[in-house]
Amino acid sequence: MQTVGIVDDPIFDSHHTGQHPENAGRLAAIRMAIASSHSRRALVPLAYRPATDEELTLAHRPQHVARIRQIADRGGAWVDGDTIVTDASFDVAIHAAGAASRAVEAVLRGEQPTALAIVRPPGHHATPDRAMGFCLFNNAAIAALIARHRFGIERTLLIDFDVHHGNGTQDIFYQDPAVFYFSVHQWPLFPGTGQVDEIGEGAGRGTTANVPLPPNCGDDIYRAVFDEVLIPLARRYQPQLVLVSAGYDAYWADPLANERLTIGGFAHLVRVCRAIAEEHCGGRLAITLEGGYNPKGLGAGVVATIAELAGLHEADEPIPPPDLRGAPDIRGLIDRVRQTHGL
Ligand SMILES: [Zn+2]
Repeated sequence: MQTVGIVDDPIFDSHHTGQHPENAGRLAAIRMAIASSHSRRALVPLAYRPATDEELTLAHRPQHVARIRQIADRGGAWVDGDTIVTDASFDVAIHAAGAASRAVEAVLRGEQPTALAIVRPPGHHATPDRAMGFCLFNNAAIAALIARHRFGIERTLLIDFDVHHGNGTQDIFYQDPAVFYFSVHQWPLFPGTGQVDEIGEGAGRGTTANVPLPPNCGDDIYRAVFDEVLIPLARRYQPQLVLVSAGYDAYWADPLANERLTIGGFAHLVRVCRAIAEEHCGGRLAITLEGGYNPKGLGAGVVATIAELAGLHEADEPIPPPDLRGAPDIRGLIDRVRQTHGL
């Protein structure tokens, strides 16, 4: 069993969103699942600090940081129909960004072989100048930029298997070849971006890859996407660090989406991410939490993730999965993505 660094903090519960799918109950479900798991023995807590303004502005315009701070200082407000800032949210969000960054730092310093940040609010929809989709600051993007600016990492592979497209992460790195952004997501679905022909621009052309899946895709389809698209892209890119935006809302019982991953399916995705890190960068793999709105699926998904990082296997299905026959044919989609990227 390998140890796994973990960052978690009760402060993440203080982003009070009320009757909202992205609420503090999500982390409570994760903590409860971890507490009753075997894999918890692998975890080593990591001390951390909140992200500084300087770190936040690696990914965001100063005006965005100032605006979120100001809204919180004034007692909070909804910034769009989905996304709320409360009086505590600025402080919570800078801790989330700091936690993701600490997970990256721990693996880059060799303190832990792998590390996981259990955070909220999530980050991958936050663009350079806008909070949206439950996200205030882009935790994964900030962590990747710290890897680059503080540790000299020139090629980070950022794998995003949240069921939604991480438009914010894509925007931040669209012209930047130092971060390869790979997303597999349901389409159409919020936020509407992430089509096959979105591949980056300028120096970043070719270092964004999107696999927009139709609904009802299960473990076999995700496995094919990772085997036939992600693995060859990673071999070509030769990452020095693998960072994962791990959302568990492609779970078959998630209320916000319509894909069909099981917990065993998530375990496989994490196993592939780990294998990519082992093949190319000495196993350096950091994971930060994005979405996941079925509490049982989220808790079991995170436990399965920790187990894979630890070299264990613990992928118990908290709810018996349904009959998954009748999946869509995505052969044409995979061929189109491979062709678009010259694979
Ligand atoms: Zn999501």
